[in-house]
Amino acid sequence: MMQPIRVLISGASIAGPALAYWLHRYGFEVTIIERAPTLRPGGYAVDIRGAAILVLERMCILDQVRAADTHMTGVYFVNKKGKIKGQMSEASIGNQHGMDIEILREDLSNILYDLTKDKVTYIWGDSITSINESETGVEVQFINRKPQIFDLIIGADGIHSNVRNLTFGEEEQFKRTLGCYISIFNLENYLNLDHCQMFFTVPGKTVGYSANNNTEAKGMFVFQSESLKYDRYNLEEQKNLINNAFKELTGWETPSLLNKLKESSDFYFDEICQIHMPTWSKGRITLVGDAAYCPSPLSGQGSSLALVGAYVLAGELKAAHGDHTKSFISYEKEMRNFVQKNQKIALLTAGGMIEKSNLKIKLRNLMLRFPIVMSTMFKMITKMIAKAANEIELKDY
Ligand SMILES: Cc1cc2nc3c(=O)[nH]c(=O)nc-3n(C[C@H](O)[C@H](O)[C@H](O)COP(=O)(O)OP(=O)(O)OC[C@H]3O[C@@H](n4cnc5c(N)ncnc54)[C@H](O)[C@@H]3O)c2cc1C
Repeated sequence: MMQPIRVLISGASIAGPALAYWLHRYGFEVTIIERAPTLRPGGYAVDIRGAAILVLERMCILDQVRAADTHMTGVYFVNKKGKIKGQMSEASIGNQHGMDIEILREDLSNILYDLTKDKVTYIWGDSITSINESETGVEVQFINRKPQIFDLIIGADGIHSNVRNLTFGEEEQFKRTLGCYISIFNLENYLNLDHCQMFFTVPGKTVGYSANNNTEAKGMFVFQSESLKYDRYNLEEQKNLINNAFKELTGWETPSLLNKLKESSDFYFDEICQIHMPTWSKGRITLVGDAAYCPSPLSGQGSSLALVGAYVLAGELKAAHGDHTKSFISYEKEMRNFVQKNQKIALLTAGGMIEKSNLKIKLRNLMLRFPIVMSTMFKMITKMIAKAANEIELKDY
């Protein structure tokens, strides 16, 4: 009997477990290695739309994911005294009611993990240190484990992909920064908001608060900045950077939210950027999700791209009977246009999160008072997002 093809996936968030599901279903032997000691919690809500909905349906988890929808009703823009100056309904922010899904990133990650945990091997708290490819396989070394041989290595390890760094070199070649940083952290719902978000915006900075149930909420800080040098694993250093950016801002809940962030033990902090690569594969190694084509966290499109990318990559591997040379080429061919369209859309939608001047903030608030103007504009944006999200015909592998 033929030995199953051994695949090592780096990263257990969205792309990794989704890919593991499909590869296992097609008879591959899958191991996932995740740097964090457990499945990482945290993050705001992410959107799932278009072709990604069909992927969830084919994974038989669409109903489960829909059941975890945040059911957010909208966003309120407040001034420094907390007075509401404008509002947008959720339906107007690119979400097609009854079709698109908005789910907390950690809820989606948990669902994908539960689906795969008994089928593939998960290794926690470790990371690849070197990848050496030969004609017959790839020898991988780890921080904590003994070296091991695999047939294929797939990087699903996010914007700062370790597999990408080891295989293609420095991230700087592929990163397109959008000039902002974002932090998201969990806190108790002390403002007692009900299924809605509040944003306080000053030029170049936004403070946010989002609650989708009675007890828990998410705090958010977004700020424009030149490129910052910091240790990605040093949370205290990152807290200081955020504190420095916001400590002068006394309006609305800013000081309280800064204090809550200080108490937080795990939070998300990253540059808002995209990844553009001329090719995602080299030999027996390829990339999927943010590692290959991050559209930027603000876009909310990252999870849809990751789910579709995982489906197509696994499907092409199956269709080529595991021949990586053929399947990595067809994976890129199938995905490239879809990725480009969604990365473009992401640039359009990301703008709403941060405003450059007081005039722009006033204009936005003024326009939000004229629902007819806004609804025409939002309909156009929603249509464009829906078009991009459907810009791929999914094969039945
Ligand atoms: C904690 C967290 C919070 C997030 N919050 C948001 C959000 O609020 N809004 C939004 O739009 N997007 C958010 N994202 C990004 C979002 O999940 C992705 O854009 C999208 O879902 C695509 O997922 P991905 O699996 O490709 O990458 P990611 O979700 O970034 O996952 C990458 C995974 O790889 C792991 N990893 C990193 N380095 C290594 C290594 N050396 N070895 C092994 N594993 C490694 C990471 O710990 C992570 O689990 C967040 C990501 C994370 C990890």
